[in-house]
Amino acid sequence: MAKDYYKILEVDKNATDEEIKRSFRKLAKKYHPDVNKEPGAQEKFKEIGEAYSVLSDPSKRKQYDQFGSAAFDGSAGGGFSGFGGGFAGFDDIDLGDIFETFMGGSFGGRRSRNTKRPTKGEDVLVHINLTFEEAIYGCEKEFSINIKDKCESCNGLGGHNSKTCPTCNGRGRVVQEQRTILGMFQTESTCPKCNGSGTVFETTCNSCRGKGLVIRKKNLKVRVPRGVDNEDQLRMSGKASSGLNGGPNGDVYIEFTVKDHPFYQRDKSDIYIKVPLTIAEAIMGCKKEVNTIQGIVKVEVEPGTQNGTKVKLRGKGIDDEKLGKKGDTYIIYNVIIPTKLDRKQKKIIKDLSETPLDDEEAFKTFKRYNK
Ligand SMILES: [Zn+2]
Ligand SMILES: [Zn+2]
Repeated sequence: MAKDYYKILEVDKNATDEEIKRSFRKLAKKYHPDVNKEPGAQEKFKEIGEAYSVLSDPSKRKQYDQFGSAAFDGSAGGGFSGFGGGFAGFDDIDLGDIFETFMGGSFGGRRSRNTKRPTKGEDVLVHINLTFEEAIYGCEKEFSINIKDKCESCNGLGGHNSKTCPTCNGRGRVVQEQRTILGMFQTESTCPKCNGSGTVFETTCNSCRGKGLVIRKKNLKVRVPRGVDNEDQLRMSGKASSGLNGGPNGDVYIEFTVKDHPFYQRDKSDIYIKVPLTIAEAIMGCKKEVNTIQGIVKVEVEPGTQNGTKVKLRGKGIDDEKLGKKGDTYIIYNVIIPTKLDRKQKKIIKDLSETPLDDEEAFKTFKRYNK
């Protein structure tokens, strides 16, 4: 008897993976035996799982489209053995998130089936503002965060005096029998008393109210490496909230914001410095002392230096720890045309203007096209 997996999942033949997944989740919630006690729900639930495991796998789906469900029945060596016997096979399929969703949500706060599963602690993201200098030279910063830390009074267990769960006798799962017109059904589900852990506490911990974690302020110190830039992230491994059941601690992520500098402009590990020149300095040339981020550098300005001329000072940029190399500093000459001349200066310029000053190539080209 061929099964129509598309019909079972209530999607049409050319449904996208996303549509199939969505419909499966909806139906799996509706027919899950923990939720739906109507006769036939269990069968329907199995059928949905079977259909999904085929249609969610591109190569199986292709095979199914070609040969139908016969390609997948037990005798043909298909992969549904897991679905044959009760619900044990559910672990084979990625149902974890579905269980989380509807077991944790509206069903009396039951968490996932196995609360002893090691879980990583929560991560924390911290923003740190740095001055320009702190970022390029590196520094040390102190800050504090709130973390969920292992509860001292119960050692993170959530309670005192643990004993075997009387409801499931330590199995973590309970079997419920259900009489229907089709006969008796057995449904196995997580023990509601112990959430599947098999043990319960005689007393719940007062300090953490059974959660095993308490919120605590934690002071941290970080060494900021040289050359950190805007939006760079640094990870402090294992410094955030405690993990549960032997899971690792969460990480602290630090994101930096670096303040601009009025004199130095930065591009990654290079620094740009604008050096103003008077027209006399630009024409005659001169010597300058420029305060770079690596100290004073003496530069010689060539006679006839044009506005915007760029000079590279190799290796005088940021000693970038992350890149493991030094950037460069670029000097950009900015020739300033004077706007406030006294009478004597005006006379000098006037005398100068009576001599030919338009001998350069640029003037010749301009004249050629602007008669
Ligand atoms: Zn139990
Ligand atoms: Zn506690």
